Amino acid sequence: MKLMDMILSRNPRTGAVLKEIPKTNASELPQVFERAARAQALWSKLSVKQRARKMMSLREVLARKVDELADVIHQENGKPVTEAMVCELLPAIELITFFAGIAPRKLKEHPLPLRNPFLRYRKSSLSYWPLGTVAVIAPWNYPFFLAFGDVAVAVLTGNAVVFKPSEYTSWVGQKIQELFEEAGFPIDIVQTVYGEGDLGAALIDQKPAKIFFTGSVRTGKAIMKQASQYLIPVTLELGGKDAMIVLPDADLDYATSAALWGGYTNSGQVCASTERLVVHESIAPEFIRRLTEKMAKLSTETDLGVCTMERQKSVYEDHLKDAREKGAEFYAGGEMSGDHTRMLPTLVGGERIEEMKIYNEETFGPVTALTTFHSVQEAIEKANRSPYGLLASVITSNLSLGEEISKELQVGTVLINEAVFSAGLPETPWGGMKDSGFGRKHSEVGLYEFVHLKHVNQPRFGFLTFKSWWWYPYTGYQRQFFRAWIRLYQGGAFEKLLNLPHFLWCMLKFLKNEPRL
Ligand code: NAD
Repeated sequence: MKLMDMILSRNPRTGAVLKEIPKTNASELPQVFERAARAQALWSKLSVKQRARKMMSLREVLARKVDELADVIHQENGKPVTEAMVCELLPAIELITFFAGIAPRKLKEHPLPLRNPFLRYRKSSLSYWPLGTVAVIAPWNYPFFLAFGDVAVAVLTGNAVVFKPSEYTSWVGQKIQELFEEAGFPIDIVQTVYGEGDLGAALIDQKPAKIFFTGSVRTGKAIMKQASQYLIPVTLELGGKDAMIVLPDADLDYATSAALWGGYTNSGQVCASTERLVVHESIAPEFIRRLTEKMAKLSTETDLGVCTMERQKSVYEDHLKDAREKGAEFYAGGEMSGDHTRMLPTLVGGERIEEMKIYNEETFGPVTALTTFHSVQEAIEKANRSPYGLLASVITSNLSLGEEISKELQVGTVLINEAVFSAGLPETPWGGMKDSGFGRKHSEVGLYEFVHLKHVNQPRFGFLTFKSWWWYPYTGYQRQFFRAWIRLYQGGAFEKLLNLPHFLWCMLKFLKNEPRL
């Protein structure tokens, strides 16, 4: 095979090739989708309970292989092994456990009670149907958890999946495929395809039933545009420029530790990274002093990963250059490491900070841009002044004030006295507002993203063939009957009682004089 037909998985620390993976040719995709459709037709016949049981085998295999998987993630993505374990594998186990637990209950067919007494001769029910073959297109920053979560829930809900990992983390993608195979899932229920953006685009032309995309705003827009040609629904989990508001009553040791982890975990290559610090002016100098002290203690061996891909370095450097040109004050960091593998954790501020790229655009690196505020209202306005709306944090010792502030923040998630972490909580919805995208992963709401809702309405009793009130012919008595019906809704109990005889009179007249056609 020629080199250009291969994806070279590289160790971002050393540049060494870890693995050569054959690229999927776009011409193979029609067969991939045909195989998926055949597998899905059989898989979807199993009950949700049976599929949930299979998920437990997947969990077992995953749990057995955590050390190997953590090492692959560490090698290919460059994050510390601890982060691979805590932020990728543990949440994946949690996710399977949660969804396999709730799915049989939440996806059970159930009645939908009809409120109106004049419609009680009919009944409604709701059932949930798999979508078919869905596409999962994933990024490189949490190459395991983000992809695995979507693939697993799609399979649990009865779908087949065509999954494209990021071209920068294809080896991790391969490992996800292997997990499903080792757990004994039907062949072709998950098929991983390897390639770059053009392969992702070619996937969409195969008209998957839905696209679950996690990645940049730019790609999200391109995907939505292409998907709109075929009316394919999409969920888009996109970027962020998340703010952490630090109130003057905050414990400064706690607040700086939260900002430290929030800003620099995974080398800041996190959609929900704390990239903006909005700190009360009275505590800002001490906050900066303590935070920089802690930054200096971060170990490059164990705490900080390396930059996963070249493109990120250039965004980081471009934002630093712009900040320098606009007179930024660098409290810490501000450059690449000597060997050029790490973006050094950076804390930056200054009078014109709010005009800088580093404050306004997603850096996706270990960068926090600090501004100050005078009043709570000003802090809220500053946090909301962003095209993104993924997550925000509030650090305070006054929890009720934190809650009040949370109501004003234009984001999908507010964390009080925490940062970033709730993407790993399967019980809680994950997703954004504004340019951070739409649709939700996780939680009951996230489960329903993977199914069709089917409503069936039918006569309550088989023997009753009552013709509906609104059928032809349209007549004067019919109109009076509906008017009386509307009036019956209006007003208090006394007015209802007054209207009731008139309503019954209209109904009798209507039924007696005008048989339904
Ligand atoms: P990206 O948009 O460059 O790539 C994501 C995936 O899309 C890759 O698999 C890529 O090959 C594929 N792709 C690229 N062009 C495509 C096209 N035209 N059609 C179909 N697929 C295409 O993003 P990235 O650099 O891998 O990830 C970083 C971005 O992801 C950041 O902006 C980050 O904030 C965001 N992100 C968001 C979340 C979230 O939950 N909101 C989570 C992680 C990352």
